[in-house]
Amino acid sequence: MKEYELNVRVKVLMPAELEKSDAELVEAAKQATETSYSPYSHFQVGAALRMESGEIIKGSNQENASYPVSCCAERTALFWAGANRPGQAVRAIAIAAQSKGRFTDDVTGPCGVCRQALLEVEHRQGSPIRLLLYSESGVHVTDSIEEIVPFSFYAESMGSEE
Ligand SMILES: [Zn+2]
Repeated sequence: MKEYELNVRVKVLMPAELEKSDAELVEAAKQATETSYSPYSHFQVGAALRMESGEIIKGSNQENASYPVSCCAERTALFWAGANRPGQAVRAIAIAAQSKGRFTDDVTGPCGVCRQALLEVEHRQGSPIRLLLYSESGVHVTDSIEEIVPFSFYAESMGSEE
C-alpha cells in the first residue's frame, strides 16, 4: 500500500489586512448578496470576479421553484463574464453569503459544480484564479482553484485528440 497527503495552503486575513483591490473585491461580493433571488433556501450568496482589466463583475444566486434550474452566484458571475468579456482572464473571485440577515460566521466555499466551472476557466486561460472566501471571522485565501479540486477533471482526462 502507498499513502500520501494532499495539502492546501490557505491564508486567513482580517478584512483590514487585505490589499486594497482584494478588500474591494470582498466588499463587492458582500454587496452582491443583496441581489440574490433565494426565496427557497433563504441563503443569499454573492460572488465578485476581478477581471484582468481590473473590472469587477458581480453575481448572486438565482433560484427557481424547479430547484435544479437555479444557478449559483459563482456561475452567474462567471458565465456573464464569459458572455460579455470573452477572452479576458479572471484573476480572482470573492464569495460571501448571508443567512437570516447576517453574514455567515464560517466561509461559504463554491459547490462542486462551480469548482468544476471555475477550474475549466482557470485551465483555459492558463493562469490561476485566486479564491477569497469571506466570513465574519476572516477572509480565507487560496492561490488557485486547482488547489481546492484535487484529482481535477479536464477535457484531456478523456484522452481525446483535437
Ligand atoms: Zn455552485
